[in-house]
Amino acid sequence: MSRKKIIAGNWKMNIKPSETAALVKGVAEATKDFAGVDIVCCTPAIDIPAAVAAAAGTRVEIGAENAHWEEKGAFTGEISTGMLIDAGAKYVIIGHSERRQYFGETDETVNRRTRAVIASGLTAIVCVGETLEEREAGKLNEVIERQMNVGLKDVTAADCAKLVIAYEPVWAIGTGKTATPDQAQEVHALIRETLAKLVGAETAETVRIQYGGSMKPSNAAELLAKKDIDGGLIGGAALKAEDFAGIIAAAAQA
Ligand code: PEP
Repeated sequence: MSRKKIIAGNWKMNIKPSETAALVKGVAEATKDFAGVDIVCCTPAIDIPAAVAAAAGTRVEIGAENAHWEEKGAFTGEISTGMLIDAGAKYVIIGHSERRQYFGETDETVNRRTRAVIASGLTAIVCVGETLEEREAGKLNEVIERQMNVGLKDVTAADCAKLVIAYEPVWAIGTGKTATPDQAQEVHALIRETLAKLVGAETAETVRIQYGGSMKPSNAAELLAKKDIDGGLIGGAALKAEDFAGIIAAAAQA
């Protein structure tokens, strides 16, 4: 099964609205020859209008870093899927480990957000991954299976057309430590197997699974060469057009 590679940047809380157009245009310009890869910049909500305007007419698509499950109401500080669609976003990252660690995100709230994002027509990039402590305690499989089973509860085979999963070992995010290609492949295979039990093997084969955790131009090719690694979710290296483009180039050749 050949799955189109998808490289998504997660800008986190790093780029101002006034800096957005230059970065998006830099990415678009540096990657215009790399057809065959889906390119996404997930930006702070306040950057989305500038990002969408800068990406117009290019192959770069824009995403958000979170979304609430309710469509509207008294949820101060939250952003709905309808607002994101209105602003031109196409993707939403859900359940990033920083949201789980600092903002009380649970597998249950990941599930509510994921179902709302998919129902809205946006594509959810759902993050799973273990901490170093969990890995060292031999709980890797248990943690991944729980995050998948609860986070994707009631997500159907049809919903999977709007689903991307990101495997992000927490110990590799922003630390410079990368999972080896074999370590990452092992977990990607587990994710696909777990997904197969939820939505069927045939559908699970179609879902793209990104690796995230200190991916950069120098290590992207060997990770992306693995059978079940279908792209990357990129933090630090997405903040410079040249670095991000280097990863997209590796994906185009994988
Ligand atoms: C991330 O935050 O999703 C991430 C993978 O960060 P970094 O690439 O900086 O490790």
